[in-house]
Amino acid sequence: MSDKIVEAPHALRRGILPDQFTRSLYACAPYRGCGHGCRYCDGRAEKYYVEGDFERDVEVRDNLPDLLAGELPRLRDRGMISFGSGVTDAYQPLEKRYRVTERCLGPLEERGWPVMAITKSALVRRDLEAWKRIDGRGGFHLAMTVTGTDEEHRRRFEPGASTYAERLETLSAFAAAGISTGALAMPLLPFINDDAASISALFGALKETGVRYIMPGGMTLRPGRQKDLYLETVGAFRAELLSEYLLAYAENRPSGAPTRAASAALRRRCSAELRKTGLPWTMPHALYAKLLPPHDAFRVLLRDMAVLYSERGVSVAPLNAAADRYDEWLKAVRGEFRRRRSLPEDWLRDRYMNAVELEELDSVLDNAKLAAFAKEIALKGRVFDYLSLALAEA
Ligand code: SF4
Repeated sequence: MSDKIVEAPHALRRGILPDQFTRSLYACAPYRGCGHGCRYCDGRAEKYYVEGDFERDVEVRDNLPDLLAGELPRLRDRGMISFGSGVTDAYQPLEKRYRVTERCLGPLEERGWPVMAITKSALVRRDLEAWKRIDGRGGFHLAMTVTGTDEEHRRRFEPGASTYAERLETLSAFAAAGISTGALAMPLLPFINDDAASISALFGALKETGVRYIMPGGMTLRPGRQKDLYLETVGAFRAELLSEYLLAYAENRPSGAPTRAASAALRRRCSAELRKTGLPWTMPHALYAKLLPPHDAFRVLLRDMAVLYSERGVSVAPLNAAADRYDEWLKAVRGEFRRRRSLPEDWLRDRYMNAVELEELDSVLDNAKLAAFAKEIALKGRVFDYLSLALAEA
């Protein structure tokens, strides 16, 4: 193990639109590489250019808290900050020693910015009190990844991460503290824990912790070092499964996705089990509407609605077209806001509210029904329910 202490050039990576998966406009990565060492981690894929041994040569961005303390006061464009990404975990084992994530919490609390963390580690519980204070200021959301219930699988495929039981206890502790939580049940491992009975056991255990949603997902295996290491692990564990994997991933797609048939079958199994829990498949509107500014929340909502309606067999071409137009509009007004530093901090929010109120959004979306829907949300504070697909009181 050779920890690499590096000087990060900046603390926050910012987008022009919120990321649909994390709902965040900003990403903060205290480390690069990850000692959890998940055998399927796609951060190992060549695409991400993580040099050296992914789980041993982890970069520690020790100066990140200082950078963050300097950057936050200059930040005018409000949006959620996410900790954790595909190529690192902010609460991986090195965090015990270096405490880079923990040292970021002071500046976050001080500035009252909304934050979310995605992790596979119970270490996040060490900072529960600080996250509670951040939640009371700008809002905090914890997303915990839990991929199964069988510890033997966890030891083989996620050797450096917390046990499943510890992760469930952590979710319960945060929910009991009044913090919103969600679960990422991904990746479900093909032929190992993605059958209906395993999914049912996992979703049942997650629901008991008080999560607000369960986001399931299958596994991608990008050709190259990610796929090679994973198949080597499966070979040592249950060699008889290798032929099944070779068939499911025979297409060797650059995205690493399995065959369409395998993905569709997994989706059906997850949907059936999720229905039994009564929970939505992603962070619901009622939750992110409290964390995001309204212009970003509306963007996330349009994209989620396209998925929700398409799953029910409704043609979503008009919705996607409206969402594309809205994205272009939001990028343009956000670009203007960022260029003109003399504009007041609330300018972007006010710009959106005016567009809704004064019917500019009708022409942006080119869809009067959607513009009326936006009005219900922005002006009456209503939320879209992901289960009934109807507007509801917040
Ligand atoms: S916790 Fe996430 S980033 Fe870390 S090894 Fe596992 S999948 Fe990769």
